[in-house]
Amino acid sequence: MTDAPMKQRVGFIGLGNMGGPMARNLVAAGYSVAGFDLAAEANEAARAGDVVIADSAADAVRAADVVVTMLPAGRHVLAAYRGSDGLLAAAKPGTLFVDCSTIDVADARIAAQDAQAAGHRAVDAPVSGGTVGASNATLTFMVGGEPADVAAVGPVLRAMGRKVVHCGASGAGQAAKVCNNMILGVSMIAVSEAFVLGEALGLSHEALFEVASTASGQCWALTTNCPVPGPVPTSPANRDYQGGFAVALMAKDLGLAANALDAGGVDAVLGRQAADIYRRLAETDLAGQDFSTVINALRDGTLAQLESR
Ligand code: NAD
Repeated sequence: MTDAPMKQRVGFIGLGNMGGPMARNLVAAGYSVAGFDLAAEANEAARAGDVVIADSAADAVRAADVVVTMLPAGRHVLAAYRGSDGLLAAAKPGTLFVDCSTIDVADARIAAQDAQAAGHRAVDAPVSGGTVGASNATLTFMVGGEPADVAAVGPVLRAMGRKVVHCGASGAGQAAKVCNNMILGVSMIAVSEAFVLGEALGLSHEALFEVASTASGQCWALTTNCPVPGPVPTSPANRDYQGGFAVALMAKDLGLAANALDAGGVDAVLGRQAADIYRRLAETDLAGQDFSTVINALRDGTLAQLESR
């Protein structure tokens, strides 16, 4: 049991790979959760975790104190919020809207403005930690919004995660997420290029890892998600790049980073190149593999072919 008020009601929209287990963890923490997803199988899986499945998204939020959305992209969030049968119209005044989806910073700000204009409160709260974090309630939430609203949503977020960071005003949670993932995408490509260069120079993976992991090349992409099998037994490279954080999801997040770079007029050469590399990789049959598979495309020349397209 957590510090959750026993009777606080949560409406949960989007019960997919992330939202499904998150909603179940809220139920396990004592919340009363009404959920809805467009996909029947997502509803059935959530129902098995004692989420009450409503007939529509609007019905799921009518009695809610807090509305959580976990949807694919900004257009889905804005479409779900808006309209005469949308979430903002259906919820009672003063409901706290929490969007946990990963979406454009600009869309997050618009979503919060729409919610406030409709008489509600709103925060953006994207997550890191993936499906394992969603299942184990160990997610990190990066939150943007008014301090009082962020404080109010704290117990709900802590029922689904381990860490909650207030990053600033509306959109700041999404901003922190795209900046972090831009570091991750660029650093994975850098680590992969170093291993391919090491191979060309006759350097063993183990020797390069032993040096770089304790020297100035040290980073998460190397020490936790090492792109070659061997040095880090738990990294997806040891499972033929299955599981982990998919190329397609990295491509999506770096696309959001590129949008933010454009909107802010920021000249980030490597961030844009990483977005381009993962966008092209996501069009190949490697799209479902862990994003460290970029090393295979670098090594066999796939990337060069993709770049010349
Ligand atoms: P998913 O595709 O498994 O789930 C999204 C769900 O939203 C689907 O079940 C879909 O049917 C539903 N949906 C779409 N429009 C809807 C609507 N109008 N009303 C109700 N349901 C609707 O995706 P996911 O992996 O759960 O990701 C959700 C969000 O979390 C995305 O923004 C993603 O970028 C982010 N995220 C995912 C991961 C990950 O590892 N999967 C990690 C961090 C963040």
